[in-house]
Amino acid sequence: MNELATTAGGELGSAAWSDRYSGALMNTFGPPQRVLVRGEGAYVWDADGRRYLDLLAGIAVNTLGHAHPTLVSAVSAQLGTLGHVSNFFATPSQVLLAERLVELVAGGRAPEGSRVFLANSGTEAVEAAFKLARRHGGTDRPRILALEGAFHGRTMGALALTHKAAYREPFAPLPGGVEHVPFGDLAALEAAMGDDVAALVVEPLQGEAGVRHLPPGYLAAARDLTRRHGALLVLDEVQTGMGRTGAWMAHHHDHIGGGVVPDVVVLAKGLAGGLPIGALVALGTDAATLLGPGQHGSTFGGNPVAAAAALATIHVIERDGLIAAAHGRGEQLLTGARAIEHPLLAGARGEGLLLALELTRPLAPAVAAAALDAGFIVNAVAPDAVRLAPPLVLSAEQAGSFLEALPAVLDAASAHDPREH
Ligand SMILES: *Cc1c(COP(=O)(O)O)cnc(C)c1O
Repeated sequence: MNELATTAGGELGSAAWSDRYSGALMNTFGPPQRVLVRGEGAYVWDADGRRYLDLLAGIAVNTLGHAHPTLVSAVSAQLGTLGHVSNFFATPSQVLLAERLVELVAGGRAPEGSRVFLANSGTEAVEAAFKLARRHGGTDRPRILALEGAFHGRTMGALALTHKAAYREPFAPLPGGVEHVPFGDLAALEAAMGDDVAALVVEPLQGEAGVRHLPPGYLAAARDLTRRHGALLVLDEVQTGMGRTGAWMAHHHDHIGGGVVPDVVVLAKGLAGGLPIGALVALGTDAATLLGPGQHGSTFGGNPVAAAAALATIHVIERDGLIAAAHGRGEQLLTGARAIEHPLLAGARGEGLLLALELTRPLAPAVAAAALDAGFIVNAVAPDAVRLAPPLVLSAEQAGSFLEALPAVLDAASAHDPREH
């Protein structure tokens, strides 16, 4: 038996594992909040045996929660049959997944010629979209537009599209041609748009910026503008896609997408329920043929195990009605949070199970820490916003347990406010 098999049950405590973590892993993420050893449904357990309700799901990834039996058996069966081949070969799981994704992304109305490129993460899927956009119009269209506040990933191309200065500046120079326009400002978008723009890249709902809705009508107007100028509309649904917001894609909601058909949709996070995957879905022949033979590639992309995991995740979402569940639990959490009267809580926003608690003061890290101490995993997505992105299998009772605990969590966080001492 290897060391993992002998220690995964938590024989070493959190403190010992944290020490070894710091001694072995690069310090890009800061110290870990806890050391987790096991999960089941919406719960995880740490190395000291404490249980937490996971309201973050690995940052909007564990769609089916932890250790879901259908996902475990699909992955085990695929790995026990054929675990990896190169892209010199095709596999049934990869083909079936690409067919399903075209259907799901286009809401059953996929334009002729739509095609998929499979990658291993969100940033890689965005990177593929960046390269695809570069091929559109070539040197006649050197500009790519993205929004202020946008997060599109951390590799150099995806980072060029990401807006946050702290993420970008240490890595200059980034690939050129990207311009950020003010968030939600249609006049600014119209002013920036032109016949020299290859693509506009947008999150239908900004996730990392703190779960922010665009103004109603923005995406539809952006679609009109991009079409008028021959630019591609690329929707980054990495965080918002695959049922999380109570629709397969966030842009499918009338009040968000207004019926737009984008040229490209980028997916990752929740797509395979926890296995690494990314997908670029190009709608229609024009977008789908921009990347030709030899122009992009990936050793792992389309990996049969990740593809089987995605197919199983999609199957369970459909079988168990998890899109309706995301909507229902989301409403419960939104309404419940808005009904809580607490000086630290200003309100709540979001869509389905991608939500943020709005704080009156920049105490989100203290709220997240107090929640963790109380047995709930949440995320300080912005100084004054706490993100909830639980598994879609979260029960009404589990959601209720968080709402019940929230006032005390907010009290504990308020007590940490340095300005109150
Ligand atoms: C998380 C995220 C990415 C990057 O995905 P990774 O899998 O972390 O590389 C890109 N776009 C959006 C909108 C995201 O939320």
